[in-house]
Amino acid sequence: MSRFEDERREMIEVLKGRGIGDERLLQVMAKIERHLFVSEPFVNRSYDDTALPIAKQQTISQPYTVAFMTQELCLKTGAKVLEVGTGSGYQAAILAEMGCRVFTIERHVDLLLQARKMFEKLGYRIGSKAGDGTIGWSDFAPYDGIVVTAAAPEVPEPLILQLAEGGRLVIPVGNLEMQDLHVITKIGDPFEKKVIEGFKFVPLIGKKGWNGQ
Ligand code: SAM
Repeated sequence: MSRFEDERREMIEVLKGRGIGDERLLQVMAKIERHLFVSEPFVNRSYDDTALPIAKQQTISQPYTVAFMTQELCLKTGAKVLEVGTGSGYQAAILAEMGCRVFTIERHVDLLLQARKMFEKLGYRIGSKAGDGTIGWSDFAPYDGIVVTAAAPEVPEPLILQLAEGGRLVIPVGNLEMQDLHVITKIGDPFEKKVIEGFKFVPLIGKKGWNGQ
C-alpha cells in the first residue's frame, strides 16, 4: 500500500460529500499523490481539504477548489487546456492525467522549475513556461478550456480571445480579500456566464492583473 492511501480515499469522500460528481475526475484525484506536490512541514496535511503554503509565498489550492474548477471546465479527453498559475503543478498534473493537452504558465521561475521536475518524474508531457499568464499563451491558442488559479481584478481580455468557440474560462474575480468564480462559455452574445460566490485565492499579478512583485 502506497503512502497516504487511506487519507487520499478520505479526501475523495469529502469531495463527493461536497458535491463533486465527475467520476473520471474523482478517479484521477484518487490516483494523483498530492503529497508529492507539498513540502515539509505540511506533507502530513496533504489530504486535508485545505490550501497549503508552497515556496514564494504561494499556495497549492484546496482539493475541493481544484476539483470544482476542473469540473466546471467540462473537458473532453484530448481537449487543449491552458492553466495560468502552475504553482506546485498539482492542478496541471490532474488535467494531464484526465487526458488533456496541457499548457501552463507560472510567473515565479523557481516554482515552474520545481513543477517541471515533478512532471518529468511522473511522466506527464505538459507544455510550460515562466511568464505573465494574464496575456495568455497565444502560440497554442485557441484553448478548449482556460483555468486561472489566482485572483484577478477583472477578466483579462487576451484569455477570452484565446478561447475556442464553445470553450470555457474558469477564473476567480474580485478584490484581494474575496472572489467569485466566473465560468464563461464562449457561446452566444454576450457569452454565457455563471458566477459562484465565495472563493479565496492569491493575487494574479501581471499586465492584466494586479500590480505587484
Ligand atoms: N494551480 C496551482 C497548484 O496546483 O498548485 C495553484 C497555484 S497558486 C494558488 C497561484 C499561482 O499563480 C501562484 O503560483 C502564482 O505565482 C501564480 N501567478 C500569479 N500571477 C500570475 C501570472 N500573471 N501568470 C502566471 N502565474 C501567476
